[in-house]
Amino acid sequence: MLVYSSPRELAAWRDRVRGMGQRIALVPTMGALHAGHATLLRAARAQADKLVASIFVNPTQFGPLEDFDRYPRQLDADQAVCREAGVDMLFCPPREDMYAGDHSVYVVEGRLTRGLCGPHRPGHFRGVLTVVAQLFNMVQPAVAMFGQKDAQQARLIQRMVRDLHMPVRVLIAPTVREADGLALSSRNRYLTEDERRRACALSQALRLGEGAYQRGVRDADEVCRQMRKHCETVAAPVAIDYVEAVDFERLEPVRTLADGVLLAMAARIGGTRLIDNILLGRERILGAFDLV
Ligand code: AMP
Repeated sequence: MLVYSSPRELAAWRDRVRGMGQRIALVPTMGALHAGHATLLRAARAQADKLVASIFVNPTQFGPLEDFDRYPRQLDADQAVCREAGVDMLFCPPREDMYAGDHSVYVVEGRLTRGLCGPHRPGHFRGVLTVVAQLFNMVQPAVAMFGQKDAQQARLIQRMVRDLHMPVRVLIAPTVREADGLALSSRNRYLTEDERRRACALSQALRLGEGAYQRGVRDADEVCRQMRKHCETVAAPVAIDYVEAVDFERLEPVRTLADGVLLAMAARIGGTRLIDNILLGRERILGAFDLV
């Protein structure tokens, strides 16, 4: 596995690969890799000739009170995960190669960011879209793979690619979970033992919502209320940012549950912000949204 930090080395490698007519798949990450990332990498591996992973803890997507400074950094362990998953080239650029001192151009989305995490993390998606656009330009992948755990992020990137005519196919891979349902996240390691137990409430609430849908309940408000109540009871003390039912295409709230509706939630347990979601009737809409 090649490991590059210099954009110039990356560009030379990329030009060689593309010159041979080979297609590149890209999986952008912030490192602290876990089994969710590994699954994403393996899914991407199957989509192209060469697999690139990037590790960059992107400062512009963290708010001033968020965890940029303490975000876990563990390059050696991450390299082992990448090697194991069949990564051909790992790109770990230093901050100054991504953001010049007078960097001044950002990608801002004005519709899909209005709800869900958007209002709770001002500037977050602007940072995400900007760094992903940079990585797309640098790596020039044919395919990029993102996780459904960050569903809003993935949909935003699909929208950016569509609206800015970026020649990249953006695929979404299913969320990988612990045995008890908790979605894997680099931030789970912040949780104390007690918080870790309470954190199960999120995925339980989503299953509860899905179960109600499967039994024929269609009232979105009613189902979200039940989910919220479950979370407030099981995860207490917990600060819930939102529990919402939105359509996966526009990420706008719906009144009536149907296949293709995303049940999504965000909550803070102790100092840790957790997000999770579930897509209703998933099997039937595979393909429609470029899920793999
Ligand atoms: P991050 O390093 O947290 O920015 O995540 C990098 C990529 O991995 C994003 O596309 C995430 O959506 C994805 N990812 C994170 N956690 C999971 C998970 N539990 N299952 C699947 N994909 C994930």
